[in-house]
Amino acid sequence: MNLNILVVEDEDAIREMLVMVLEQANFRVIEAASAELALSVLAENRVDLLLLDWMLPGITGVELARRLKKDASYKDLPIILLTARGEEEDKIRGLEIGADDYVTKPFSPKELQARIKAVMRRSGKLTELGQLTVGDLTLDAEQHRLTIAGKTVDVSPTEFRLMQFFMTNPDKVYSRTHLLDQVWGRSVYIEERTVDVHIRRLRKLLAEFGREELIQTVRGFGYRFSMAE
Ligand code: CA
Repeated sequence: MNLNILVVEDEDAIREMLVMVLEQANFRVIEAASAELALSVLAENRVDLLLLDWMLPGITGVELARRLKKDASYKDLPIILLTARGEEEDKIRGLEIGADDYVTKPFSPKELQARIKAVMRRSGKLTELGQLTVGDLTLDAEQHRLTIAGKTVDVSPTEFRLMQFFMTNPDKVYSRTHLLDQVWGRSVYIEERTVDVHIRRLRKLLAEFGREELIQTVRGFGYRFSMAE
């Protein structure tokens, strides 16, 4: 789905289990063992949802959630708190500081996946399972279909993955190398100009809908997908 979840949990066994469960649900997972590490991950990566343990050494999960919700750059980042506590008071406190949901340990993988998808849908990151909508563009991962204003765009599998990457990572500039890693995979050896070839084809397809400006060239650096003119 190309959605990144940052898992913040100090206990290795639980963190590894969470990573496994989330990867099974086709999310990409970044791990951090403390709130301090989570902050540096957030500064350098695009994160679509934060799965945050309540009990952490140093800055606690609740404290981190409180700080992020007050920070203009992170206030829209969905946060799910993981708690071992079942007390009503703690749940209320978690939601009061702005967490979007909480999951009480122990939980089943299905419950966790369902909660995450519900929060992703509420925050507009997922419209339905496997569907991603940005403006009037919809990407259906299951049917491998891209539509603009309801009309199907005839994209190849590579161009589909490229659009999927762009639509989940809008408004940021990516180098050709980064796009190769993310869309083609690190293990494949392809020349950087292959990216240009696919971008050109994609723009041609978008041009049929008058939308070629969705993919912008940032001279000397790479490409950016943006709905803004
Ligand atoms: Ca913990």
